[in-house]
Amino acid sequence: MKQLPAATVRLLSSSQIITSVVSVVKELIENSLDAGATSIDVKLENYGFDKIEVRDNGEGIKATDAPVMAMKYYTSKINSHEDLENLTTYGFRGEALGSICCVAEVLITTRTAADNFSTQYVLDGSGHIISQKPSHLGQGTTVTALRLFKNLPVRKQFYSTTKKCKDEIKKVLDLLISYGILKPDLRILFIHNKAVVWQKTRASDHKMALLSVLGTAVMGNMEPFQYHSEEAQIYLSGFLPKHDADHSSTSLSTPERSFIFINSRPIHQKDILKLIRRYYNLKCLKESTRLYPIFFLKIDVPTANVDVNLTPDKSQVLLQNKESVLIALENLMTTCYGSLPSTNSYENSKTDVSSADMAVSKKAETDVLFNKTESSGSNYPNVDTSSISFQNDVHADESGENINGCLNHIHVHDHYDDHFISENSNTDNTKNTFLEIPMDNLSSEDTQKEYTETCFVGSVTQAQSENGRIDESGGNEKEAVPEKSVEICADNWSRGNALKNAMGENIEPVKILVPPGSSACEGSERSPPSPEQKSLDDGSCNKKSNVVDHKSGQLTAYDLISRRVIKKPMSASALFVQDHRVQFLTENPQTSLEAAAIQIEELWKTLSEEEKLNLFNGSHYLEILYKMTAGDQSYSGSTYLSDPRLTANGFKIKLIPGVSIAENYLEIEGMANCLPFYGVMDLKEILNAIVNKNAKEVYECRPRKVISYLEGEAVRLSRQLPMYLSKEDIQDIIYRMKHQFGNEIKGCVHGRPFFHHLTHLPEAT
Ligand code: ADP
Ligand code: MG
Repeated sequence: MKQLPAATVRLLSSSQIITSVVSVVKELIENSLDAGATSIDVKLENYGFDKIEVRDNGEGIKATDAPVMAMKYYTSKINSHEDLENLTTYGFRGEALGSICCVAEVLITTRTAADNFSTQYVLDGSGHIISQKPSHLGQGTTVTALRLFKNLPVRKQFYSTTKKCKDEIKKVLDLLISYGILKPDLRILFIHNKAVVWQKTRASDHKMALLSVLGTAVMGNMEPFQYHSEEAQIYLSGFLPKHDADHSSTSLSTPERSFIFINSRPIHQKDILKLIRRYYNLKCLKESTRLYPIFFLKIDVPTANVDVNLTPDKSQVLLQNKESVLIALENLMTTCYGSLPSTNSYENSKTDVSSADMAVSKKAETDVLFNKTESSGSNYPNVDTSSISFQNDVHADESGENINGCLNHIHVHDHYDDHFISENSNTDNTKNTFLEIPMDNLSSEDTQKEYTETCFVGSVTQAQSENGRIDESGGNEKEAVPEKSVEICADNWSRGNALKNAMGENIEPVKILVPPGSSACEGSERSPPSPEQKSLDDGSCNKKSNVVDHKSGQLTAYDLISRRVIKKPMSASALFVQDHRVQFLTENPQTSLEAAAIQIEELWKTLSEEEKLNLFNGSHYLEILYKMTAGDQSYSGSTYLSDPRLTANGFKIKLIPGVSIAENYLEIEGMANCLPFYGVMDLKEILNAIVNKNAKEVYECRPRKVISYLEGEAVRLSRQLPMYLSKEDIQDIIYRMKHQFGNEIKGCVHGRPFFHHLTHLPEAT
């Protein structure tokens, strides 16, 4: 027998702690949180294997500590074994940085409040400083790990498939999300390969943090709870699905949104998860499914009762009083959902271990302290049941209702989906549920703003559509207005003085918003117009602005500021007229605009239904679509058109091939739901750009609605940027711009140039 060389021992023990990309990220984030950071940027390249970078704005590392910061078993967090009893930090073993140095090339740039500038340290495999140089970053610490597992080919091999790599990104995301919920005031930015995967702005409390992560649809179905067992010193708090919630929005097939924290550590605890799931399934879903509720459970117990030193990644904890915690939890669940039939207590279910459970709890030893407990509910001496409070306070209820009542306009829309998941056309449940995560970075402020905005829009919509309805009804007005109304002047109408009812009182003319008798509309009043005329009239006699009849998209703040008219879709005839006007006028230059419109409209009337339809499903449009590249065929033989000119403009089009090309069948299966009134006509706009302008690139065929949406988003996002960016960030941006735009595009979506020439710097000699 031989003793292993020290380097090998180090590598072996390190690879116990640093097992994956997500474990590096977890250690680095916890270091940042321990350093009091309120802002953390996580950047990965090539799924983290080329580069993992975590930047924080924490207290930084003192120059005197730097030489040992990455030496194993050096820590600033505890001094002795006893300190473990009162652990308030995530880290305490002094192992993480050292371990990362063993499996990657590490750079640490750091600056404390007392430093004048930051210093970048380059470390070697054993955590020693190889070199150091001044750098330009602000207060805080940036740890960069390059070429992870380069010396562990087998470990790298494990990540050889894209699926595994993507899973890893998803794990990182889930981890970031759980810290994001736990620490509402933490700002998080997660970037992979230069694209923002997820970001979270600061939120005021757990509820707002959850709202930004889970979205309004889910949060509208959640209810806060609080529970305190005085004797056992257990605090439980968080959010659970309401008993009578719309459970389709609070159930998932995986526990990825079942957030459990013990003393602020995100943990995997099988029994806790199972207990909650059992109650949820039997009491809320009323059946024995295997669905996981979305929930947020924060368990706080005295630090001395928890041993986190169980697994290297600290995601398992040993609860000294686990029984009491489970009892407390069962009490809570009973209060929230009602008691279970005795056969369904958690004891009986102990043997039933699904594969999902296995995935959650890798180590069975975690359960060592689980003792069988009688389930009859009465013999829980430790628990002070009187202190259970399932919060039903008015505030929570009210906001819940707001969410339900007003926010159904807000569509959860995630860019993440576009960039990352949609490539995966398989739609297993995990993916589906994943798509529900709102990636909008809603700060509490943003969210609240959106509430009010949306509620506001809701009411405006209603008022205006009423307005619109009456305006449009033209000849039908008689139904709403008594005969005499023709002689009544507008002013009297609007003052409500015009009519006396049987009691001699004025009747409020609530139904009339636009008085009859204005000259332009008079003609149409006498003889009810044809539907076509009506839509032409729309433009001439209804001088409404910002008419919103029905909106399928969410109105952005930008829409409101820009005061741009948001048009409802035009009628078929109006579109026909619009399309043919130019051609008609060139062919008949003498005709006036109005006459042309009338003539084209007459032409429209002569078309058969089929011809009319064909104009819009026009075969030349179909031809272009058929020519576009499609993705891989699924089992059913259908495919999706993968041409970026469609996908990047928010259209998901399914192609079901027929026996011959003529029998091919196209179906628009999805459209970007962030744009008001986005629809087939916008698809037509794209196809027109392709036919008429030979648009090859996405930017050449963006529909106008998409352009203005992007303009709005550009403004919104740029407002979120910090005032001053570091040199590195600027270089990064320039690199991306070069990479993505090439040399052709020199200006932003608003048409302004990206760069201004300030001065010419002479070359240094
Ligand atoms: P531990 O977190 O267990 O102490 P680590 O190896 O993760 O061990 O970190 C070693 C030491 O380096 C920490 O104790 C801390 O003093 C310092 N450190 C690491 N990361 C940061 C950071 N982001 N900000 C400030 N100090 C840090
Ligand atoms: Mg640490």
